[in-house]
Amino acid sequence: MTTEQHKDKFASTCCYCGVGCGVTVSKEKNGTVTVEGDAAYPVNKGMLCSKGLNLQYTVNDKSDRLFYPQMRYSKSMPMQRVSWDEALQRTAAVFKTFIQKYGPESVAFYVSGQCLTEEYYVVNKLIKGFIGSNNIDTNSRLCMSSAVAGYKMALGEDSVPVSYDDIELADCFYVTGANPAWCHPILWRRVEAHKAANPGVKIIVVDPRVTDSAAIADLHLQLNPGTDVILNHAIGRVLIENGDIDLDFIQNHAEGFEAYKEVVFERTVAEAAELCGVREEDIRLAATYIGGAKGFISMWTMGLNQSAVGVDKNLSLLNLNLITGQIGKPGAGPFSLTGQPNAMGGREVGGLSNLLAAHRNLNNPLHREEVQKFWGGTTISEKPGLTATEMFEALNNGSLKAIWVICTNPLTSLPNVRLAEEGMKKAKFVVVQDISDKPETIRYADVVLPAAAWAEKEGTMTNSERRISHLAKVVDAPGEALPDAEIICRFAQKMGFRGFDFKNASEIYQEHAQLTAGTNIDITGLNYEVLQQKRSVQWPYTTGETGEGTARLFTDKTFYTPSTKAVIHPVPVAFRSEMPDNDFPLILTTGRIRDQWHTMSKTGKVNKLKKHISQAYLEIHPTDADLLKIGEGDVVVVASRRGDVRVKAKLSANIKRGVVFLPMHWGKILGNDLNRANNVTNDALDPISKEPDFKFCAVRVEKYKKP
Ligand code: SF4
Repeated sequence: MTTEQHKDKFASTCCYCGVGCGVTVSKEKNGTVTVEGDAAYPVNKGMLCSKGLNLQYTVNDKSDRLFYPQMRYSKSMPMQRVSWDEALQRTAAVFKTFIQKYGPESVAFYVSGQCLTEEYYVVNKLIKGFIGSNNIDTNSRLCMSSAVAGYKMALGEDSVPVSYDDIELADCFYVTGANPAWCHPILWRRVEAHKAANPGVKIIVVDPRVTDSAAIADLHLQLNPGTDVILNHAIGRVLIENGDIDLDFIQNHAEGFEAYKEVVFERTVAEAAELCGVREEDIRLAATYIGGAKGFISMWTMGLNQSAVGVDKNLSLLNLNLITGQIGKPGAGPFSLTGQPNAMGGREVGGLSNLLAAHRNLNNPLHREEVQKFWGGTTISEKPGLTATEMFEALNNGSLKAIWVICTNPLTSLPNVRLAEEGMKKAKFVVVQDISDKPETIRYADVVLPAAAWAEKEGTMTNSERRISHLAKVVDAPGEALPDAEIICRFAQKMGFRGFDFKNASEIYQEHAQLTAGTNIDITGLNYEVLQQKRSVQWPYTTGETGEGTARLFTDKTFYTPSTKAVIHPVPVAFRSEMPDNDFPLILTTGRIRDQWHTMSKTGKVNKLKKHISQAYLEIHPTDADLLKIGEGDVVVVASRRGDVRVKAKLSANIKRGVVFLPMHWGKILGNDLNRANNVTNDALDPISKEPDFKFCAVRVEKYKKP
């Protein structure tokens, strides 16, 4: 499954965050690669952040790579090198046995927003269309599922309406639950440059911490964690009171306004300010900025999504764009920023346990029938599959027997991770498919499959603005490593399934594109030839199209709901997080740092990237630290009801009193899990999106005393 290339410079896309910067990858004579920003690429115009500038190490450094398949017949035996045939034959035999004995729901795939669209497509086809279970979920569940649910409920479908080019057309940004200066740096540079050139542009940042993003804000609302819905409602109320709403849009293109108005008027702005821990006049100022804007963009990420009320938070924010009519026009719209490079592509193929291809719904019998007919496989089950955390619970209770983990590191990234570890210990059969021998999951694996890394395989990804790009294969994968899609297709054939004999990634893409026909994300006009020639386009891209795709959705104010109107949801103020108490009096929030990405399996290999922040730490307000007799650099124990971590204290007045922060990147290294933030986090879920509450749990902090 390779496409021969006869050149030494290749177009690709950065494989870290969802900004999706274009890069040019050069193949050197010694077989290594070098990477530079693509000056002609519309997203980044040649710029790269610290992570993108060091992309080449992910390919050139092979010190931790898996080179050949390995297998063992019992957990007490050492792993042994085997052929691909043996590894896949045995895996197929074990899967068939479990499926026969316990049903198709006894097996599951847990994949990643780093998978290419083609990889996502074939795994979904395999389990939903041929095995007959919907047990496929992705680590995108941990970051984007609340946004997906919010878009579906408000706009009718999971559709990001805007483009990055809207940044330069907007004059007000409401950045909430996000620190793009660190997590989406190139996108933020565009916002910074726009503001520098146009000082009248207003930036409002909402975050319990003073972040680098807040540094350029006209207004920083340093709210109490978990009070986002109250704040958004209060802003909504002031917009209504000031008459800064779009009555024409509300009357003709939206529904639910009257019920919304009732909810937001339940609380005075002063009461909301008190609960949020911000000044009333600042809420009013934020509403004035938004209400006075010609183009208003709301931007958000994990601070809203990773919550037990994540969908409510999303809806309360979307409401601000809807009541002001700030959607479907230049420089306006709600804009969720994806954390992973292909979280959006995964959503296109229905890569979550409750979705079907091309934004079809699993609970719609017609949609199931359409997809089943197209694939020609088994009947698609109407029962939603297990979500990310549910899979590991099911391993714990024995209902799930086998799990296949692709390109993700759940034993660092899942909340309340020790429970997930227990699940892995109890699993009857574990397959780990990865590029690296470092993920902690390998310790529990029965079969280990070596995968090709970025630039060692061909495929496509979609960034936060619906921009699909083609990533070239530049060099061969080391040893016997294979592209992830090829591994899945070979396995499917071992299972005896038809429809997996693709000759290359391009054929997979063509099949995926055909399945989008007639849907709102129709990309039937796309194939590899078009993508290579255009470099990238934005979906939808229908048959016969020749341009650059669709920059903006809902320009005719027609939404994907049954009524074609957007829905303003009267979100009640609910609170489902673990409250602080006498035993655990502080609120813990977790997040990223500037130069590391996810669980550091790639960025952690680059020494330069360790210079910014080299070890895990606890950020704590000096007054809280003083009360606990903790000084700068002291080792502290952060404990919750689920576990603890031991890290150094970093005193900072940039964090709100009563709140502490741990970076999420560090995991188990050489048997030491002392700095793994997810020892402590809570696995409470949003009831709709099933996204975990990473941003809020009750903890106690003490100075570490040697036993
Ligand atoms: Fe890569 Fe994101 Fe940095 Fe761009 S902003 S170079 S996509 S990590």
